[in-house]
Amino acid sequence: MPAASDFLPEKEIDGIRCLLCSGTRHSVRDALKPAEIATSWAVMGVKLSAAGRACFADCGVIRHLACCTCGFQFFDPAPAGDSAFYGELQRQFSEYYPKTCPAFDRAIEFARRQHLGQVFDLGCGAGFFLDQARAAGLKTGGLDLNATAVADCRAHGHDVQLRSMADFAARNPTDRFRFITAFEVVEHVPDPTAFVKDAANLLQPGGWLGVSVPNNDGVHSLCELEPHQWPPHHLTRWRVADLARLGQQAGLRLEESGADIRHGWHIRFFMDLQGRIEEALGRRPSVPGRWWPETVCLLYRASLMKQWGPHRGLGLYAFYQKPGS
Ligand SMILES: [Zn+2]
Repeated sequence: MPAASDFLPEKEIDGIRCLLCSGTRHSVRDALKPAEIATSWAVMGVKLSAAGRACFADCGVIRHLACCTCGFQFFDPAPAGDSAFYGELQRQFSEYYPKTCPAFDRAIEFARRQHLGQVFDLGCGAGFFLDQARAAGLKTGGLDLNATAVADCRAHGHDVQLRSMADFAARNPTDRFRFITAFEVVEHVPDPTAFVKDAANLLQPGGWLGVSVPNNDGVHSLCELEPHQWPPHHLTRWRVADLARLGQQAGLRLEESGADIRHGWHIRFFMDLQGRIEEALGRRPSVPGRWWPETVCLLYRASLMKQWGPHRGLGLYAFYQKPGS
């Protein structure tokens, strides 16, 4: 009956390169078999069929690694989700694509501050951000690899194409943008640096890229077993320092970055979920009892830390600028 502590950093492994710094020494933070990842999804109310599990079913064991050089966290192997996997998530989570979130508001405010009249959204999903951006007066466009999502966006009048960035850049060599966004996309791609380099290639000199990712320094760290944070859903985990390094690797200047506010219910939700997944996996519990998450939530609220403490909420963001003018 292993606990996460059985996997802690004494074990350094060689032969795998960090996706951010190319370091080759890593610690193993944890490991899950595909069946255990499917069990974690079941705790969240998602039943994956054999077709939904096919993209990661043959992996043997998936290790959660932390680079010993830069601390970046990723997985080995890191199978990406396919259309069968995402189709099952979208059918079973009624709000898989959020209608709005702090990152959308922040990007629109950023566009206002920088006097940007247009936004091009990568991985635009059902187009909820583009709807909000157009309502704020921005000209909208974007790309997605999900045909249903692209059809939805077009039905809402957005100029969205079913293409990869590389394909779009090759077909439209003169189309370059002042403002590009990618909300909760970077953590899904196998090579984040290549993704951001491709995005930078679509920017005009002096143009801006806005990125948001789940915050691994925030409430997600209270539930390391949460299946959204494991392959085949997320392939990497992010901190503010990682976003800074990501910009450097892609030749972009970091203008600003930060995290969302942490709410008390986030603490209760993720601690409780960690306990339920540990129980389903037959692991030793990491908290003293089911009453503990509620107690911590109440203490956090009473402390008023939401107002004055560090921001450790759900999401991280960064705005980068491409050199030139
Ligand atoms: Zn590294």
